[in-house]
Order: sequence, then C-alpha cells, then structure tokens
Amino acid sequence: MRKNIVAGNWKMNKNLQEGLALAKELDATLKGKKVNCDVIIGTPFIHLAKVVEAIDTHKIGVAAQNCADKASGAYTGEVSAEMVASTGAKYVILGHSERRAYYHETPEILKQKVILALANGLTPIFCIGEVLAEREAEKHFEIVKSQLQKSLFELSSEDFSKLILAYEPVWAIGTGKTATPEQAQEMHAFIRKTIAEKYGDEVADNTSILYGGSANASNAKELFANPDVDGGLIGGASLSVDKFMPIIEAF
Ligand code: PEP
Repeated sequence: MRKNIVAGNWKMNKNLQEGLALAKELDATLKGKKVNCDVIIGTPFIHLAKVVEAIDTHKIGVAAQNCADKASGAYTGEVSAEMVASTGAKYVILGHSERRAYYHETPEILKQKVILALANGLTPIFCIGEVLAEREAEKHFEIVKSQLQKSLFELSSEDFSKLILAYEPVWAIGTGKTATPEQAQEMHAFIRKTIAEKYGDEVADNTSILYGGSANASNAKELFANPDVDGGLIGGASLSVDKFMPIIEAF
C-alpha cells in the first residue's frame, strides 16, 4: 500500500544552528503525537548528519536536496549519494525544477543521480512538472510523461517501486498560486496511469505521488483529499513548525 507523506524542502534556508533548532522543534512537537502520514525534512547538505543525530528518525525521515551524478572522484564541490547515505539520511530530492532550471540538470543527468541514489540505499523523491508556458500550450501531460520516460522508465520495476514522486507545477512553486485540487488530481491520475502502462497496476497503485507548489495550512486538506494525491512536498511552509504542522495534520 502506498504511503501518505508530507515532506519539507528547506531549499537554501537556515544556517546550521537555525536548521538544527527547527528540526528539534519539529521533533519535540511530534513526540507522543499520532500522525497519519510519514514526515520527511529535506535539509541542506551541511545539516544532514547533525539533524539525524538530533531527532527521532523513526518519526522524521531526513532527505538531502540533491546528490552528484558521479559516484566519486575529482568533482570539486559535489556531494555523492554515498556521502549522503553515510550521514544517516534516507531520502534525496532529485529533479527539483530549481535544479533543472538554474543548474541545467538534464533528464540524462537525473537518470544517473537516481541510479546512484538507489545503489546507495536512498529513496529518491523525484520531482516532475511543467512550466506555465507548457500548461498554457496544453502540453503539460506530454511534458510530465516525457520527464518520467527520460529519467525513470529504464529502471527495473523493483527499483521503480522504491521511488516517491512529486508533481510540482513550476508555476505554483513559491508563487502563492496553488494548483486547484481538480488540476492536481487530474495530473496525479495521469501520472499513475502512465506508470501503470509501463510497470502495471500494482506498481502504479503502490507509488506515492506528492503534490508540491504553494501548499499550505489552508489548502492542504482539500489537496490531500484527492484519491491520487498522497501528500505534499512543501517549500516555504516547511520553514516553521507553526506552518508545517497543520499540513502534516491535514491527514
Ligand atoms: C518546492 O520547492 O518544492 C515547493 C513546493 O515550494 P513552495 O511550497 O514554497 O511552493
């Protein structure tokens, strides 16, 4: 059975002390509380090891926001999937639209990152989604299908089953402009159908597909109520416990 998941993406926010304080505050808030979804926080690399030590990782999973497309070697400034895994982090966000747009991550590069993440026991949270011009040109289904095909559809069914997907319409990220619950459901159902065509109904049914793009306390319930929306990837609203908790509790 697929899981409901609320995952935070801190992006390039919070210095080490601030990040640790946020992680500890979330940990303390969740202590003794029963929530109906898995909770993950995606921190900058420098926070990973300390955050893993500071919190109950059975309650809060820890994710990197990227990893290298190479295993090791002379790649100054890069952080490998093996290094991420060695911190105790269990997840890695890959294919975020900011990385595709600003750091020119191509579908081929992302394919290599996914392979390395899986080889090192990390669960990729793989982001897909169209930009505004593509939606306006009614190409959003085609774009999302091609993102899946180019980076993920050479994986074995066993490996594909380990992924979490996040549909993030780029026009909704950080803009305050959320997709409507109908738009989210329509695309999530399409993604699930596309997976079913490639890997069969069982794999498709078991894949968690998160929605991302200006999700917050006031729209999370409506978004998560859709049958194919299995949670959220949350940017801005994951930066404070006050804003993140109500999203977790929307399940
Ligand atoms: C994101 O960065 O993945 C995201 C969804 O950001 P926001 O929630 O701020 O739109």
